[in-house]
Amino acid sequence: MIVYKPSAVANASGPHVHDPRSGEIIETHVNWYHNIMQLVHNWYMIQAGAIDPGARKLEFDEELMGQLIRFVSSHEVGHTLGLAHNFGSSSTIPVEKLRNKAYVEAHGHTPSIMDYARFNYVAQPEDHIGREGIFPRIGEYDTWAIEFGYRWYPQFTTAKSEVNYLNKLIVDSLAANKRLYFGNEFNSADPRDQSEDLGDNAALAGKYGIKNLQRILPQLKTWTREPNEGYNGLKVMYEELLKQYRLYTVQVLKSVGGEYRTIRSVEQPGVTYAGRVPAAKRSDEVPERLPVHDTALGVQ
Ligand SMILES: [Zn+2]
Repeated sequence: MIVYKPSAVANASGPHVHDPRSGEIIETHVNWYHNIMQLVHNWYMIQAGAIDPGARKLEFDEELMGQLIRFVSSHEVGHTLGLAHNFGSSSTIPVEKLRNKAYVEAHGHTPSIMDYARFNYVAQPEDHIGREGIFPRIGEYDTWAIEFGYRWYPQFTTAKSEVNYLNKLIVDSLAANKRLYFGNEFNSADPRDQSEDLGDNAALAGKYGIKNLQRILPQLKTWTREPNEGYNGLKVMYEELLKQYRLYTVQVLKSVGGEYRTIRSVEQPGVTYAGRVPAAKRSDEVPERLPVHDTALGVQ
């Protein structure tokens, strides 16, 4: 069930009640608060405004808003099926692939709808990437996670008897396909597992993101213009732009002081703590400073 909540809350959730003995989901639903539409609107204008002309107004057309609703509701349905956030998924895709039209339109910018990957802010106007390459979608990780959680193995008659098989399935599947990587939302020191980041290099992804913010900033006054109204829309979107800029800079900090921690079972080769992020990765791309001047907005 999707429960529509006429509320100013800008969020959605997909809680479930499960039997702790078996993991069986007993009750689940999606809570859909009205103003989630405001949230996705603001994200989309700030992250995709440089590459999608449809993002350049205060009220999106139904086709675009419908796609944005599909993105959030797919994520929430993932929760109702028992999937947790996979903040690490987006780190499996090299940043430059996010600018490759053929690749990103075919595969999306992250292998999981359960990441907080939002929109493809790395794509530049000259890449001519369509909406298929901008929106998150159900991906390889999600299909794999559902198969792991739901597939029936008739050769096993009890939950305990299938543990060996399922663990081997995880070890082998992850070794064969790096895009099935899972990084949880609590592993905040690991640069791979960050909220609202994209790609495998925060400095490079942020640099592209900031280039787009530099394109968006001078246009905000035009994009937020409402006849017979004041500048409230401009104020809101300018604050959103600053939030996005801060996000890019904070994401780079994890590459300086962070460390890699990979969740493994004891049968899985490799180390759990892999130490600090290599210096070369930390210093190869430094984001430029965003020139934020009131005059760029034309505000008196
Ligand atoms: Zn979620």
